[in-house]
Amino acid sequence: MEVISSVDEMRAIAAKAHADGKKIGLVPTMGALHAGHLSLIARARQERDFVVVSIFVNPTQFGPKEDYHRYPRSLEADSRKCENAEVDVVFAPLAVDMYPGGFDTWVEVKGPAEVLEGQSRPGHFQGVATVCAKLFNIVRADRAYFGKKDYQQLTVIRKMVDDLNMNVEVVAVDTMRERDGLALSSRNSYLDKREREAALVLSSSLETARKVYESGERNTKAIQTRVWNIIAAEPLAQVEYVVVVDAETLTPVETIERPVAVLLAVRIGSTRLIDNTVIGE
Ligand code: AMP
Repeated sequence: MEVISSVDEMRAIAAKAHADGKKIGLVPTMGALHAGHLSLIARARQERDFVVVSIFVNPTQFGPKEDYHRYPRSLEADSRKCENAEVDVVFAPLAVDMYPGGFDTWVEVKGPAEVLEGQSRPGHFQGVATVCAKLFNIVRADRAYFGKKDYQQLTVIRKMVDDLNMNVEVVAVDTMRERDGLALSSRNSYLDKREREAALVLSSSLETARKVYESGERNTKAIQTRVWNIIAAEPLAQVEYVVVVDAETLTPVETIERPVAVLLAVRIGSTRLIDNTVIGE
């Protein structure tokens, strides 16, 4: 396995793999790899001849008051995990090489990027879309693997690929959870013991949403209120949003007739966590 930071070197390796007729799979990450990331990598390994994992804490997707500097970084341990997972190349570029002086081009998705995380985190999806477009061009992957954990991100990337006719197939991988239900996230490392317990309200409220739907409820407002109340009852939790929206377009729905996504963002202490579930599939 090679660990590469140079953009030009990555392009050369990708061009060679491409010329050799290899199918390239890309798993874009910000590092601090956990079992959720590894499930994306395993899927890529199963399906592709050549697997590239990018590790890049992308500065342009963090707001000025967000955790860019505090975000966990562990390139050595991450590289070992990738080696064990039989990754071909870890691509870990430097921010100055991805965004050199004079960098002036941004990809702006509207529609599904304008709501929820897009409102809470202005500029976030512009950063995500731009870095993914760059990674797709550098790595020339024909499949890129994304987690459903970041459901809106997945939707935005699909929209970008579709709208801009990019030659990459987006593969969605199920959310990996701890035994008690908490979705694995690099940001879980910020939680202390009490907060870790409180964080269970995210997955347990989503579980309730699913049960309420299964018992026949089709009114989205009723489901949203149930979820909201469960989270509000946890003293360490502060709800940022809870919505039940069309699973494909993320637009509001009144009555569930097609699959919907229940999406939520909650602050546990100072840590902002997101989670979701799709119901009615
Ligand atoms: P990140 O490093 O947080 O940017 O995540 C990189 C990729 O891993 C994204 O496509 C995420 O959706 C995905 N991912 C993060 N957490 C999980 C999880 N618990 N299960 C599955 N995929 C995940």
